[in-house]
Amino acid sequence: RAKKLGRNTCRTYTSEIDTQVSQRLALRRDMQAAIEGRQFELHYQPLVCARSARVTGFEALLRWRHPVHGYVSPGVFIPLAEETGQIVPISEWVLERACRDLSDLRCQGFGELRVAVNLSPLQFQRPGFLDTLSRILASSGLPARCLELELTEGILLEDTELAIERLFALQEMGIGASIDDFGTGYSSLSYLKHLPIGKLKIDRSFVQELASSERDVDIVSGIIAMAHRLGLTVVAEGVENEKQRRILEDQGCDLYQGFLFARPMPLGSLQAFLENGCLAAR
Ligand code: C2E
Ligand code: MG
Ligand code: MG
Ligand code: MG
Repeated sequence: RAKKLGRNTCRTYTSEIDTQVSQRLALRRDMQAAIEGRQFELHYQPLVCARSARVTGFEALLRWRHPVHGYVSPGVFIPLAEETGQIVPISEWVLERACRDLSDLRCQGFGELRVAVNLSPLQFQRPGFLDTLSRILASSGLPARCLELELTEGILLEDTELAIERLFALQEMGIGASIDDFGTGYSSLSYLKHLPIGKLKIDRSFVQELASSERDVDIVSGIIAMAHRLGLTVVAEGVENEKQRRILEDQGCDLYQGFLFARPMPLGSLQAFLENGCLAAR
């Protein structure tokens, strides 16, 4: 694009890249301080059962409260942390925090809820990953069945053999596995038949235009039908309005997640949310 616009823009283009690089360097440095300085928080977004309208659990979503920039999106810092390896201590903190928070909620009598944690490829492939998981479950006192791990299609394709081995080990431990952002990767549903995966989360991009795009309705209904035939539970991500919800209901979607029901919120607000009549499945 710089070429088309002429020589002068070429310079700005380069300096833009410079700024981006130095911003990334700064973020990388700040992230180290964040790891040491408790700047990370977990927010939780409820998943709602289509049939009973009850909350079945929530997804833990990482937030970085930067001292200068405010909240930095995980879409920005997670890929960077993945590059630098900083994702390893961060992910461990996420797992610990999520398991401890849910364990506390269970003690307060909020019922049989589950927490879903997003996994990064580096974390999933690390040699000590399963031991770390066992240790965290033991120390938090959370039953394995209350923990679910969300994996993207990319994780399964990166080192398929290891991924399969790990998935069966998770199943053995009693931990659930979901495929996140389904439909955005390059995989097909057929391989899911052979893997111990319980849930499939349809990516938000297919939900977004459900009300106006026949094609997206077809895609979503196809995914749901096939997932059900394989015995999977289907979650729709990013449900924002009643029209989308109705279409998803017509197609037999099992669980909804999105702003229509609740935004991701800190633990304190989640407690209030659960108390205020948004009943958990007990
Ligand atoms: P994701 O796992 O697909 O998470 C769902 C994202 O959709 C979240 O963005 C959530 O806030 C957003 N969302 C939920 N409902 C709606 C809706 O109705 N409308 C819209 N527009 N958005 C909605 P968030 O929190 O910014 O996270 C972005 C991504 O960052 C996540 O996508 C996940 O891939 C990654 N991520 C978040 N936390 C962690 C973590 O602890 N570890 C790892 N490895 N990745 C994480
Ligand atoms: Mg997720
Ligand atoms: Mg997702
Ligand atoms: Mg997504």
